[in-house]
Amino acid sequence: MSETPGIRKVSLMRWVLRISNLIISLMVCVFDDAWFQLSRLFRGNLPCRCIVLYYHSVPKEYAERFEEQMRLVLKLAAPLDLRYLKGCSGKKRFVAITFDDSMESFYNNAVPVLVRLKIPATVFAVADALGTRPGWGDHYYLPTERVMSATQLQSLPDAISIGSHTLTHVSLVTVEPEMARGEITGSRQRLENLLQRSVTLFSFPHGHFNEALVHQCREAGYERVFTTEPRCVNETNFVIGRVSADPWDWPLEFRLKMMGAYRWRRSVRAALNRMLHYLALGQALGWEPGFGKMESQKAEKDSVDVHAGLR
Ligand SMILES: [Zn+2]
Repeated sequence: MSETPGIRKVSLMRWVLRISNLIISLMVCVFDDAWFQLSRLFRGNLPCRCIVLYYHSVPKEYAERFEEQMRLVLKLAAPLDLRYLKGCSGKKRFVAITFDDSMESFYNNAVPVLVRLKIPATVFAVADALGTRPGWGDHYYLPTERVMSATQLQSLPDAISIGSHTLTHVSLVTVEPEMARGEITGSRQRLENLLQRSVTLFSFPHGHFNEALVHQCREAGYERVFTTEPRCVNETNFVIGRVSADPWDWPLEFRLKMMGAYRWRRSVRAALNRMLHYLALGQALGWEPGFGKMESQKAEKDSVDVHAGLR
């Protein structure tokens, strides 16, 4: 999730990071293409060509840019409905579109585009926050942004599937298992009662998750759960990674994202996580890491944040 342009001045460091990410992803894309051509030539295993994108808001001034992105999806790939995640392998490229947080700007500015272009999508709703100003993401959303109302959620067309994003958008790794269970199962029940349709998909708030939470989601009856780890889709997996996208992505940036070229960032996240865990462990053992002071609790929290939010 990246902040909506205009909320605050973008630092030079962010620009440098964004351009660096773009250059590395461009190289990954060239490598992918070469691998794909070689695999076809020698009849080897074809590389993955199925990607799930996740958006948050689509402000009015970016509706046109969003439509251009969706037209590019139609041009270069086949849109995928996550309720029927099958057959996304082989030569064809597939892209699924998702939205976290069920914001009003999605309802007002993205849904009309999706309906007009006949592109299926999935929105993950925060069951207890419908119709409110979101109590999370202050740094990312415009002050005018609100969560969709229950009536708006009920009026979504069938092509838009609705999944759960918990009751309150709490980070599930920071709460007791019983509370996490309530967020996972309670949100499903509440949404099913409201919508009178089955809710089988779930996405983790802030992208924070662990094995125990995945297990709880299975027990709650979900068929798939979605993270913010950028990776290609394996249709047999219960846990599906996604690539972050925004309507304000540069055209080349978006093109590379929908082609899966940003998935290298998952390895960087994992390496950073490992490093932070080592630092936390080192301090618990009384080592002096030499990187300045870091409380073990903070390192643990940071490791979760890096795991989830690196963009
Ligand atoms: Zn969220």
